[in-house]
Amino acid sequence: MDGATETSRDAVAGPRAAPGRECLACGGETSRPLFEKGGKRFLRCPDCGYVRLEPLPTLAELEAHYAWTYAEGPYAVFAAAEDVRAFIARDRLASLGAALPAGPWLDVGASTGAFVRAAREAGHDARGIELSEAAVAAAGKSGLPVERARIEDWEPSEPLAAVTAFDVLEHLLDPTVLPERARRWLRPGGVLALTLPDIGSPVARAMGRHWFFYAPNDHFHYFDRGSIARFLERHGFRAERIVTAAKPLTPDYVAGQVQVFYPPLAAASRLVRLLPRGLRERTIHVPVGEMLVVARRSDA
Ligand SMILES: [Zn+2]
Repeated sequence: MDGATETSRDAVAGPRAAPGRECLACGGETSRPLFEKGGKRFLRCPDCGYVRLEPLPTLAELEAHYAWTYAEGPYAVFAAAEDVRAFIARDRLASLGAALPAGPWLDVGASTGAFVRAAREAGHDARGIELSEAAVAAAGKSGLPVERARIEDWEPSEPLAAVTAFDVLEHLLDPTVLPERARRWLRPGGVLALTLPDIGSPVARAMGRHWFFYAPNDHFHYFDRGSIARFLERHGFRAERIVTAAKPLTPDYVAGQVQVFYPPLAAASRLVRLLPRGLRERTIHVPVGEMLVVARRSDA
């Protein structure tokens, strides 16, 4: 297939419509109600376990939500915690280890560039794309190559060795865009590495609908280890490694996140302030229910 032809098709078609009723992971056509939360229905595919939100927000609703979250909502807390982001980035780089081949890397949803910075400091040819204007400006101030672009529009100047997308897939209205574009960007044998919520994780099972990643304004698609492997396979990748991704966080940061994302526990989370400062700022690995997936472009 000719890459140039696909480019022009995408350029003409613009942003894709939200996906239809077919299961994105296995192609099944039935779904069963799982629960409701925040006025949205969570529907589960009985064949593979993939869970989707219904109805999906419109593009206008999504833009309004992001304008709020970046300015004063949950992501303002996250964006402010640059040192935590650096910790997480170095941790992810370490856990990916030798899985990412040498050559040009792209980090999708690079935010303020923490992973790009960690990768470049380790000697890799890494760059990023990001939608948030504020995040791109912050990355630029730090001298990091993060440009403002949508997944649908970006094109590399040469074939990539690796694409990373941390905590991105669940936020996309149509998640098929990510593996489809990554497949075109990558050279044969190139690697796609993702982190995303795992609905099969112990914390997800224990918390049920109260699990913090079941966030109807932010997360639209939910996979477990089996359904993410099927999803990637349907879109040109073979999953080679799926493991638990624990986040290195400080008690201070976790308390801040709980206060924003989980108000019923806000009072309890403020008890963290009673801890000695050294302890509050110590990094601990928290299994929040995410998985790390390393997949390779499948070439017949
Ligand atoms: Zn399915």
